Amino acid sequence: MADRIPLALVGIGKIARDQHIPSIAGGNDFVVAAGVSRHGKVEGAENFTDFDAFLAARPDIKVVSLCTPPEVRFDMAKAAIAAGRHVLMEKPPATTLGEAEALSKIAAKAGVTLFATWHSRFALGVEPAKQWLSDKIIQSISIVWKEDVRRWHPGQAWIWEPGGFGVFDPGINALSILTEIVPGHILVQKSTLEFPENKKQPIAASIAMRTVEGAPITAEFDWRQEGPQTWDITVQTNEGELRLSKGGSELYIGGKEQASGPDREYAGIYERFAKLIRSRQSDTDYQPLRIVADSFLCGERKVVAHFED
Ligand code: NAP
Repeated sequence: MADRIPLALVGIGKIARDQHIPSIAGGNDFVVAAGVSRHGKVEGAENFTDFDAFLAARPDIKVVSLCTPPEVRFDMAKAAIAAGRHVLMEKPPATTLGEAEALSKIAAKAGVTLFATWHSRFALGVEPAKQWLSDKIIQSISIVWKEDVRRWHPGQAWIWEPGGFGVFDPGINALSILTEIVPGHILVQKSTLEFPENKKQPIAASIAMRTVEGAPITAEFDWRQEGPQTWDITVQTNEGELRLSKGGSELYIGGKEQASGPDREYAGIYERFAKLIRSRQSDTDYQPLRIVADSFLCGERKVVAHFED
C-alpha cells in the first residue's frame, strides 16, 4: 500500500462508483486519497466539493482522474495541468476537438502526463482482434451498437444537453474500438442523426464511413433498444469474418470463440496510466472524437417522436 500513488477522483457518479473505485482498489498502482464532487463522496478519503479548493489544499496529490461529464472536463484538466498534476480523462475527453487538442499541447508544455482514456479499447477481445487484422485485407465493417438509454443512463440530464453527446456517448466506445483495430484514418461520408422533438442531442445515428483504402464501414447507433442489448463489430476480410461482440469482450474468428474471461477494462486503464506517469509520457488519441465531429458536420438531421427517459 505504501508505494501506491495517491490520486484524487473527481465527479463521484455512476462510473466513478461502478468502475474507478473498485478497479483502483483492486490494482497495485494507486490509492484514492481524495474525492472531489459536489454531492458524491469517497469513503476513507478526504472529500472536497470544489476542485480549485482541492488543488490548493492537497499539493501532495499529484494525480487526478476526471470522471465528470465531458462538458466540464476542459476547465478542470487545464487547472490541474497548470497546478502540475498528471491527468486521466474519462471518455469522451472533451466536448470539442479544439479543447482536446489544446489540452494535449498544454500538458506537453507543462511536462505532465495526460491520458485520454477509451475504456472499450481495454476489452478482452480488442488487442487480439487488432493483431489478427494486422496482416489481412479489410473488405467491409459493420457496427451495430444498440442499447436502452433508460437502463444505462437513468437521471443523467447532461447527456441530452449540448456537449452531452446523446447516443454518441456509447457510440464513441464503438468508434474507439474501430480506430484501434483498423490502421489508418477512418473517413466519414454521410450520416443521419435522429433527434427526438424534445431533446437537444441525437437518440440514434446511422453513419456511412470508409477506410482510406476504400473499404465501406457502416455504424448504427440507437438508444431505444429494449430487451437484449447489441454491441457488435463485424469485419469481413480476405481470410474470413472477425466479430467482436458484447462491447469487445468476446472475439469470434470464422465463427469460433477466441477470447473470453473476466472484464479488466478499468484495471487495464489504471495499469497503463501508472506506466505513462512513470515513463513521463502522454496518450491522447482523439480519432474517435474526430469521427463524432465529422458525423455532425456531414449529418442530415431528422426530428423523431417525443422521448421520455
Ligand atoms: P454521472 O453518473 O452523471 O456522474 C458524473 C458526476 O460528475 C456527477 O455525479 C456529478 O457529481 C459530477 N459533475 C460535475 N459537473 C457536472 C455537470 N456539469 N453535470 C453533471 N454532473 C457533473 O455520469 P457517469 O455515468 O458517471 O459518466 C461520467 C463520464 O464517464 C462520462 O463522460 C461518461 O461518458 C463516462 N462513462 C460512463 C459510463 C457509464 O456506464 N455510465 C461508462 C464509461 C464511461 P457531483 O454532483 O457530486 O459533482
